[in-house]
Amino acid sequence: MKKQFTIIGLGRFGVSVCNELHRLGHEVLAIDSNEDKVNEISEIVTHSAVANGTDEKALKNLGIRNFDHVIVAIGDNLQASILCTLLLKDLDIKNVWVKAQNYYHHKVLDKIGADHIIHPEHDMGARIARHLVSDKVTDYIELSADYSIVEIKASAKLNAQTLAELDVRARFGVTILAIKRAKEMNITPMPDDQIMTNDILIVVGRKQDLKRFEDFT
Ligand code: ADP
Repeated sequence: MKKQFTIIGLGRFGVSVCNELHRLGHEVLAIDSNEDKVNEISEIVTHSAVANGTDEKALKNLGIRNFDHVIVAIGDNLQASILCTLLLKDLDIKNVWVKAQNYYHHKVLDKIGADHIIHPEHDMGARIARHLVSDKVTDYIELSADYSIVEIKASAKLNAQTLAELDVRARFGVTILAIKRAKEMNITPMPDDQIMTNDILIVVGRKQDLKRFEDFT
């Protein structure tokens, strides 16, 4: 279903969100106070406008209240980011996503009602670090402080074992959500399905349990 999104702040992060939403076929309104930034994205997105994210009247005139999702991607200007978030919540926007710069910024955003607070550099750094330290983990997504999803490359040790034989849920407390083999993705793995060397297993669980499974494979 086509959804409508507004992105305020067209730095590297904001532009990357715009590009992907556009690629996925959604309607995007892109806003920045810098005209050059707006001109650079205007060909790609559905609508674009030069406006200050802290100007309530300008946001209202752009019809921001019709958008269910607004992403505040204003970078270092913490004051503008906070004020813009406050205005959006006052305007009753249901889902306000805000890029936080640091812990204190996060705390303030939380207090004023931001619905989703994101730390792209922190999250990406953690993903890459996991990739760097392990030759088995090919991707990593943190779900919470305790849980994550990892992609683990199956070693020869797992070759020809069925999921039932491996019994990871009982032995490690983790769940194999899907198995990727070359371009094929098995998203409903059955107990009789066999793992082959170099399959990519998409596994969810507590971090320490995932580590035990990773060390075992
Ligand atoms: P990134 O780290 O994602 O590259 P930047 O700090 O480089 O982020 O970019 C932030 C963007 O937000 C810039 O394009 C800047 O012009 C824009 N911006 C800053 N303040 C405002 C504001 N009050 N209203 C709208 N856009 C703003």
